[in-house]
Amino acid sequence: MSKPEKIEAASVSVLGAARSGIAVARLLKAKGARLFVSDKKPREEAAQQIQMLESMGVEYEFGAHSDRLFDADFIVVSPGVPSNLNLVQHAMKVGLNVYSEVEVASWFCRAPIVAITGSNGKTTTTTLIGKIFEKSGRKTVVAGNIGYPISDYVAEMDEDAVAVLEVSSFQLDHVDTFKPRVAVLLNITPDHLDRYDNYQAYMNAKFKIFMNQSADDTSVYSHDDEAVDKHCRALGTVRKPFSVTEKIACGGFVEDGKVYLVENGSPVHLIDWKEIRIRGVHNLYNSIASALAARAMGVDMDVIADTLREFPGVEHRLEPVRELEGVKYINDSKATNVDAVWYALGSFDAPIVLIAGGKDKGNDYSPLFGPVKEKVRAMILIGMAAPKMQREFADKTKCVMAASMEDAVAKARREARKGDIVLLSPACASFDMFQDYEHRGREFKRLVMEL
Ligand code: ADP
Repeated sequence: MSKPEKIEAASVSVLGAARSGIAVARLLKAKGARLFVSDKKPREEAAQQIQMLESMGVEYEFGAHSDRLFDADFIVVSPGVPSNLNLVQHAMKVGLNVYSEVEVASWFCRAPIVAITGSNGKTTTTTLIGKIFEKSGRKTVVAGNIGYPISDYVAEMDEDAVAVLEVSSFQLDHVDTFKPRVAVLLNITPDHLDRYDNYQAYMNAKFKIFMNQSADDTSVYSHDDEAVDKHCRALGTVRKPFSVTEKIACGGFVEDGKVYLVENGSPVHLIDWKEIRIRGVHNLYNSIASALAARAMGVDMDVIADTLREFPGVEHRLEPVRELEGVKYINDSKATNVDAVWYALGSFDAPIVLIAGGKDKGNDYSPLFGPVKEKVRAMILIGMAAPKMQREFADKTKCVMAASMEDAVAKARREARKGDIVLLSPACASFDMFQDYEHRGREFKRLVMEL
């Protein structure tokens, strides 16, 4: 069952009072629904949220979830709430529809949606696609998982605008009618296995981005990711695969360092790889995917190529910080899983002193064994994952334990020789030592600048 016929008569519970929870409550309230917001965060820590909810005239509870939550026509869950949480499971068991914020916002979004998902590269690709549309002169809203809830923007967008939306697997867990005009699936690699019953369940969530697309909608996906390609080959949409290893008959590919998009069956040269400002093979994937998505919405090739020449990338993603004593310091704090670190290590030729660790998410580090042995001069290990990582990497490279980021930066400096790279690319979440990956990245940058 999908959107209730009469939103103005609906009674809605919102689970989680973070940004997207508040935004969706505001949106639904404006549509006339009756809202109840529930968050287990202690009341004392929620002053700001309470003030907002009060001013909106929305009822709420903090500190614990009561049964009142289930007294609704449907529930909206925040992306921070795991789908395997008992409460969510219970709601579904008693027959309540559970939606994510992007699903609800999409009911009211008149602008076409370009949605981006994947295990890695979402924010980079979403930001890049947004820049391409902006350069093309189209009214563009960049929102979603990237930090700005789409619910805050639907009212101001008409059919001529475009909504570029980063969507996580958690948001996709609870979609129902969500139908992007263009959907992009960058890759799927193991991540968040602590929040899914198994890898297949995580993959299935990602595939839901295509679930409601029709024959004239476009699906952009990685040809080089076997599982993704296998699933997407069967889609009945306009399919636009991308590859950096193979010359493919539709979509986009690379040959002799040149990027081509296939248009009406013929390859058209878009740009040379060396002209693209964001570096690394992973960013080549992100760039081709972005180009295909923009092209599907009718953006000129020149506008796309110009943006690719200019776009500097996003903070905390292989971000150069400083060069000191012939050593380059790179902040890749956003590398919160093994695959992102794999690409980070592949982006450099020089020997690397790798700062890694944090909160382990059930990681399998084995894909890193080869690259670490080959390229990493020393690993500086921090956080809860440090002992596990030391056990696994001790026979691959020198492992040094560090008690804090400050200690890690100091020890990294000691290990690095002229010409080396000091790379913060943790492969883990940050929550054991920091508020979030941005906090971790900022701390790293501050400490490096103080050296
Ligand atoms: P997401 O929003 O999916 O987390 P980001 O663009 O924030 O993706 O990048 C997260 C991390 O993954 C960074 O360390 C970045 O260098 C790396 N990365 C970016 N694009 C890709 C890709 N296509 N494949 C693998 N890793 C990538």
